[in-house]
Amino acid sequence: MNRRSEMAPRVERVRERIASACAQAGREPDEVTLIAVTKTFPASDVVALTELGIRDFGENRLPELRDKVEALARPDLRWHFIGQVQTKKAGQVSAVADTVHSVDRERLVQSLARGAQRHGRRLGVFLQVSLDHLTASTSPTGIGPRGGIEPAGLLGLAAVVAESQSLDLSGIMCLPPPDLAPEVAFAELSRLSGQLTREHPTATAISAGMSGDLEVAVRHGATHVRIGTAILGARPVVG
Ligand SMILES: *Cc1c(COP(=O)(O)O)cnc(C)c1O
Repeated sequence: MNRRSEMAPRVERVRERIASACAQAGREPDEVTLIAVTKTFPASDVVALTELGIRDFGENRLPELRDKVEALARPDLRWHFIGQVQTKKAGQVSAVADTVHSVDRERLVQSLARGAQRHGRRLGVFLQVSLDHLTASTSPTGIGPRGGIEPAGLLGLAAVVAESQSLDLSGIMCLPPPDLAPEVAFAELSRLSGQLTREHPTATAISAGMSGDLEVAVRHGATHVRIGTAILGARPVVG
């Protein structure tokens, strides 16, 4: 069986899950963008997914993102960078990504803004918030491996993005700590999104929900779900 026929029913199933969560929440399915997270999978899988109607793709490593963008050369696709960005690589990320979901500090905002300007592009920005304050599993440094800004810093960071000429403040994103119930995590994210949109009325996007918890995220207002395993299958374990 080729990859397209293998993935077709999975894409359909994910779309049904989104639609039924939307129905429960009184939302329309077209309010939710399905991002296929193609990290570790070949560019040919991206092509197969475009044939199934997907246009939004998520990657978490710069070299892999760049390879796929260059191999496909399809201006109709939107590339979402969902991994942590090193400040010194920000310029290169802004050359190829359309949107970055993991923006969590001012220096990174400034590097992305400069990079986007240099490449004559506009970049969508999601501010990644840390929900580590809701769990017991905070690391000793206070900075979790997942990244993310503490909620208290959210509006300050948003102001820096909003001032930039080359960045668009899209909204908010989180990667919930594994020991935090998705209900609790996404309810908190929704509350923080409310704070953000009070000051930045167009920053309404909420990037939340993965293969295992997309229904909960959609019920709490997610506008962008990031789905890997449920569409592409299990990723090879990388060391
Ligand atoms: C890998 C990844 C996903 C996709 O996770 P699945 O559980 O495979 O759907 C979503 N978001 C981020 C930030 C990721 O790194």
